[in-house]
Amino acid sequence: MAFLLHKDENGAARYGTFSIFPGGAVVHAVSTRFGGVSKAPYDEMNLALHVGDDSADVEQNRRRFLGWLGLDFERLTTPEQVHGDNILCVGERESGRGRLSYADAVPATDALMTDVPGVPLMLCFADCTPILLFDPVHRAAAIAHGGWKGTVRSIAAKTVRAMHEAFGMQAEDCFAAIGPAIGPCCYEIGIEVAEEFHKAFPKYNSDIISEENGKIWLDLWKANRLQLENAGLLPENIDVAGVCTSCHVRTYFSYRAEGPTTGRIAAVMAIK
Ligand SMILES: [Zn+2]
Repeated sequence: MAFLLHKDENGAARYGTFSIFPGGAVVHAVSTRFGGVSKAPYDEMNLALHVGDDSADVEQNRRRFLGWLGLDFERLTTPEQVHGDNILCVGERESGRGRLSYADAVPATDALMTDVPGVPLMLCFADCTPILLFDPVHRAAAIAHGGWKGTVRSIAAKTVRAMHEAFGMQAEDCFAAIGPAIGPCCYEIGIEVAEEFHKAFPKYNSDIISEENGKIWLDLWKANRLQLENAGLLPENIDVAGVCTSCHVRTYFSYRAEGPTTGRIAAVMAIK
């Protein structure tokens, strides 16, 4: 299992993919900062419309990113992410929402799923955890947004459940990937957040929270992996990129490393 960065003909990184997803049935990628047209501090491949970047630049970036993957920009579907636990099943009716305007995005939703071929789902991130799910039996895909709030609210596990209800997915058939996100090396949290995780993960507190020199550190990658395993996914079907966006701020955007005025990478999935 691996997260592999793909490069252009000049050797510049463009986007990453996970080897765990069976080829042929699903297209997926996680973008980097590279290959776009946005100017600082959104340089270069900012894919979010709500962060103050020029919307024409964002549209061009989105078209370019989807073009690399052979996906249809007109059907690109993306939500307004609010660190909640709403999940939407995207059908033909919602297809295309949010591609050109944030006001038109699927409102207040932190996970999208679909079994409609050719509809690219996209969520944006700067340190929060991208969780990508794929059911090869029912040919359905989902992306969830797992920041600390979404993780405490069990967005990953709830998305697995929602895929079961919508498509009949069995958890043991599901493949999952946890994308680049802030790592336990850089994610210092306060006592209030630690207490939320203690309540949400009572059995695993010492696995995901560590303390050193009076500081508390959170492992969001592991918290989401544990949540997926508890939801019934097989450990061998979960791939973790293990890439810290704060450590690798030259390749990815990082809220912690750069502050609120920065761009967003995106995770995209589409059923073929
Ligand atoms: Zn780090």
